[in-house]
Amino acid sequence: MEFYEGIPGTVGGAIVMNAGAHGCNTSQILETVTVLNLKTWKIEILTPKDINFGYRISTINPTEQIVICAKFRMNTDTEASIRSRMKENNTIRRRTQPIKDPSAGCTFRNPLELNLPAGKILESIGAKKWTIGDAQVSSVHANFIINLGSANSQDVCKLISKMQETTLEKYNVLLKPEVKPLGIFDKSEAIIWTNADQTLSNSFIITK
Ligand SMILES: Cc1cc2nc3c(=O)[nH]c(=O)nc-3n(C[C@H](O)[C@H](O)[C@H](O)COP(=O)(O)OP(=O)(O)OC[C@H]3O[C@@H](n4cnc5c(N)ncnc54)[C@H](O)[C@@H]3O)c2cc1C
Repeated sequence: MEFYEGIPGTVGGAIVMNAGAHGCNTSQILETVTVLNLKTWKIEILTPKDINFGYRISTINPTEQIVICAKFRMNTDTEASIRSRMKENNTIRRRTQPIKDPSAGCTFRNPLELNLPAGKILESIGAKKWTIGDAQVSSVHANFIINLGSANSQDVCKLISKMQETTLEKYNVLLKPEVKPLGIFDKSEAIIWTNADQTLSNSFIITK
């Protein structure tokens, strides 16, 4: 479980997103997950075989299934070794991510089409420090958009759009957002998600 060190969030979010780091992810240690099915109002106990997990994605649909409990498989080890691995993971994160700046984490999933992480692709197109309004591509990690103070959803959507368009031009790959939209968006803003991702059942998005 040490890979979770530094990943903000809840157990439910980690399962739905198949959160992971350092080569490990939630599906690898999950034994069972208990959900409340909002269609039947029944409690269901699922095993990883009942769920399709992918890279930062799962088939648990939060509009129909609420994660209320989970059982994880853990390896036994000494407290000192566990703490040492956590510290190591934390050090890597502090060195490679803008953890002091407000952000939503990685903006895009790593594209399966290229053998390169999204951050490296974005760095190669010179995206670091691109700024729209108060939203800026981090100078530490090009897959993070940070809020310089009062960034709004329009700033972030425009920046995401610019990052997608430039990557499409240079690599012929459309980066798919890892962040999930929540709220009311203009159609022109919503398109950055709907174009790239057909798994929107996992999101809460209203267009006006
Ligand atoms: C600085 C930073 C670093 C990050 N680093 C990583 C990283 O290294 N690896 C990684 O995988 N992620 C990373 N993330 C992303 C994020 O932390 C993870 O995706 C995390 O698992 C989200 O958990 P959450 O509880 O905040 O879920 P939310 O973001 O609130 O929700 C995610 C999804 O899960 C659903 N959901 C949440 N709780 C439940 C529930 N109980 N039942 C049903 N559905 C639910 C929501 O509806 C939504 O669709 C990072 C984020 C930040 C800000």
